Amino acid sequence: MKFGGTSVENGEKIRHVAELLKQYHMDGNELVAVTSALGGVTDGLLTTANEVSKNGKVSQVKEFITDLSKKHYDAINVAIDDEKIRSECVDSIDTRVDELEKALIGICYLGELTNRSIDYISSYGERLAAPIVSGSIRSLGIPSQSFTGGEAGIVTDSNYGDARLLEDSYTLVKSKLGPLLKENIPVVTGFIAHNKQGIITTLGRGGSDFSASIIGASVDADEIWLWKEVHGIMTTDPKIVPESRPIPQISYIEAMELSYFGAKVLHPRTIEPAIKHKIPVRVKNTFEPEFPGTLIVAEQKQIEDVVKAVTLINKVALINISGAGMVGTIGTAARVFSALANAGVNITMISQGSSEANLSLVVNEDQLEAAVAAVRSEFTTNVVGDVAYDRDVCVVAVVGAGMDGIPGVAGKVFYSLGNAGINIIMISQGSSQHNISFVVSSDEALDAVKTLHCEFELDKQ
Ligand code: ADP
Ligand code: ASP
Ligand code: MG
Repeated sequence: MKFGGTSVENGEKIRHVAELLKQYHMDGNELVAVTSALGGVTDGLLTTANEVSKNGKVSQVKEFITDLSKKHYDAINVAIDDEKIRSECVDSIDTRVDELEKALIGICYLGELTNRSIDYISSYGERLAAPIVSGSIRSLGIPSQSFTGGEAGIVTDSNYGDARLLEDSYTLVKSKLGPLLKENIPVVTGFIAHNKQGIITTLGRGGSDFSASIIGASVDADEIWLWKEVHGIMTTDPKIVPESRPIPQISYIEAMELSYFGAKVLHPRTIEPAIKHKIPVRVKNTFEPEFPGTLIVAEQKQIEDVVKAVTLINKVALINISGAGMVGTIGTAARVFSALANAGVNITMISQGSSEANLSLVVNEDQLEAAVAAVRSEFTTNVVGDVAYDRDVCVVAVVGAGMDGIPGVAGKVFYSLGNAGINIIMISQGSSQHNISFVVSSDEALDAVKTLHCEFELDKQ
């Protein structure tokens, strides 16, 4: 069971989580709890590290550390009744906050923030949360122990910020956590792991979902439950369309496509370990536990609704590579893709018109500069005439396995957008036919999501 940042935002919520875990434990289940950082802490750590690496202000570090300690002390005071457990917990928080303060002051003086130090700093969110959640469980009379992801056996490569899981992790986690499960509820930090040298790495933002799935697969769990503050996977982001509805059941493939196409509700790699070990995943609301939420399973439920959900990705940029010299010049696309791969740029979407005079790509906004520079330096002759780009774009996708082989879905998508006066800049459909995705300008993106949600009647039962 994984609890997201909003589920462990403060002492009351942590106590509620501990009570929930106790209840499932008493019902005879063996459980591992995975916790995120207290809501907002990871953002705070990253922003502070970033700012002090530029401004060198030790006073800002001190202020941040005072607030951070207070937030966690407050949580301890509400979540843990037992005096002894409370003081042990305060001690472990103090030790960790001291280490963090030293690291942040180091960054002030160095004026430098490497990917490795970003992972180290951001790991403190979860490392401060786990002892409190574990203490709260113990305070309710259930044995519990807290672990970092690395201590629990999650080992990755050294690709800081988005580290890749090493296969050995599955057996390691099983050997470390398996023997505890009869009596104990281990609490593991989500999001973080370590490499073979024991240096802290992270699995990417929102990575606690993935941690839970790795652990679930390792201990041969019957199910993996992700507790959040939403009712499950919804037909679109409820922050954009308040009428969106929870989807009762969805397939692994659809859930993966949803997460790839921006539904923040799931970390994109969450489903991989679950698929491999055929473990059902549930997304549930921490504050309405009796609500069934969403069940993610292998079977494709054959349904009348062809489209299940609409998603939005922002913070992307469009690159347009054009030039009359590209027509019929063999190897142009290959050179573009190799240049981008060598520059470490990840391409999200591709489209080429059959005139061949133009190739459009979508990349993450933070990789735009590297991407444009790489393509420009690859083509110094006149094969490519121009490399234009646009930051003010979003990707919108409609997802649903039911689209496979059903004619007219694309027509309906583009017709309704046309009627709403929304201009489509680029289109792509994966050959899986499980999604249709397209690019629109940022200021039309929310309208596009609302229009499609309404067009496919996703707000109706
Ligand atoms: P966690 O607490 O587990 O970290 P997140 O905050 O990462 O949870 O994910 C939940 C958020 O994802 C919601 O607040 C919601 O705004 C957003 N979201 C985006 N798309 C969807 C969707 N299709 N279904 C549910 N939530 C979504
Ligand atoms: N705390 C991390 C983040 O905010 C990981 C997570 O919550 O899943 O990205
Ligand atoms: Mg998340």
